Amino acid sequence: MTIPRTAEVVIIGGGVMGASTAYHLALRGQKNILLLEKEEFFGQGATGRCAGGVRYQFSTEVNVRLSLHSLPMLERFREEIGQDINYRKCGYLFVLTRPKDVRTFRHSLELQQSLGVRTEWLAPDEVRRRLPLMRFEDALAGSFNSEDGLVDPNSVVMGYMGAAQRLGVQALNNVEVTGIQVASGRIAALETSQGTIATRVIVNAAGPWAGLIGQMAGVAVPIEPVRRQLMTTSPLPEVPPDFPFVLDFAQSLYFHREGEGILTGMSNPEEKAGFGQNVDEDFELVNLEAAIARLPCLEKAGLQSHWAGLYEVTPDAHPIYGRTPVGGFYLVAGFSGHGFMHGPISGKLLAECILDGKFQSLDVSMLDLARFQEGRQIREQHVV
Ligand SMILES: Cc1cc2nc3c(=O)[nH]c(=O)nc-3n(C[C@H](O)[C@H](O)[C@H](O)COP(=O)(O)OP(=O)(O)OC[C@H]3O[C@@H](n4cnc5c(N)ncnc54)[C@H](O)[C@@H]3O)c2cc1C
Repeated sequence: MTIPRTAEVVIIGGGVMGASTAYHLALRGQKNILLLEKEEFFGQGATGRCAGGVRYQFSTEVNVRLSLHSLPMLERFREEIGQDINYRKCGYLFVLTRPKDVRTFRHSLELQQSLGVRTEWLAPDEVRRRLPLMRFEDALAGSFNSEDGLVDPNSVVMGYMGAAQRLGVQALNNVEVTGIQVASGRIAALETSQGTIATRVIVNAAGPWAGLIGQMAGVAVPIEPVRRQLMTTSPLPEVPPDFPFVLDFAQSLYFHREGEGILTGMSNPEEKAGFGQNVDEDFELVNLEAAIARLPCLEKAGLQSHWAGLYEVTPDAHPIYGRTPVGGFYLVAGFSGHGFMHGPISGKLLAECILDGKFQSLDVSMLDLARFQEGRQIREQHVV
């Protein structure tokens, strides 16, 4: 492999954000783009370990609007990119068991409906009627959107990566960025495991590792890696093909059909920040017990696979887009565990920010890095 010694734009990270940014920059005519990924394959970071859920149900206007742009891009993906991504509209059903969540979700439903999103409010009996295999005696309400669903993350990464390469992007695996050179307040070069590359523009799309890349450029990027894990089961014939993505919101416990079995995950509220990606088997038992209590037929299933990945958590659970105090150093990171679905629009927005100097498709200027210094955070409530 020969690694170039100069590039006009270098993208660090071959997950959904890096791949989408590379494609959208190249589509806009940007030449001499280099994407670097430290792993042997693309999409092995958070993207390849995620649950693949895509939804409109958020609590802040900007997140709903990101979905309003991004999910239709996923719907058109095959047509535009030439790659099937297996978009299944099974719907997301948030089951609410605490009065405070009922209030929050009711408020979010009004916001979503005001933006044209058709989320439905379900009475407790309706929740139980729709989920006959589950035990939700304590349900107080449900929030359901039939347009939400599931998409295959690896197909999205490979689709964008292939399309970007056809447009001339050079995308390299097994190249780790180890340092960034800044001169007179702007990007001058980056150091890698394969040598130095001179460039004026770097996009930090390093997901859970974006804080480390920020440090290399002397920019504090408040993104913490937090382990999250899930497991899949052997086939469960009684679970119907149209079983929705069910979230027991109070427990951060979720279920959806995966192949002929079930995928279940649960967020450990005690998990500390760190880069470890081994499965915590004690917490897996907690997840399993809680899951069986809600979906008793799981008791009959065998464990098929399990894995852990890293959320890329910011203090307000919103991503960070755009410029930083170092000239030519851009961010598209910190999606806080729900970024796969916003990958398509986020790459497009970054391309606009770099080439046009502003976000054109959607104003995400409030999601800049400076908001943390200036106290402009806005909190997303629907974090799983
Ligand atoms: C268990 C789990 C479940 C999730 N479920 C969902 C879901 O249902 N729906 C949803 O929308 N989101 C979900 N997410 C979140 C989603 O996965 C992320 O928000 C999204 O994938 C982030 O994409 P990314 O490209 O920013 O990061 P990544 O996919 O992590 O890509 C960053 C890449 O940068 C590379 N890199 C890092 N440092 C360097 C370096 N120094 N040099 C070169 N390369 C480097 C990494 O190897 C990695 O490939 C989930 C996440 C997890 C962990």
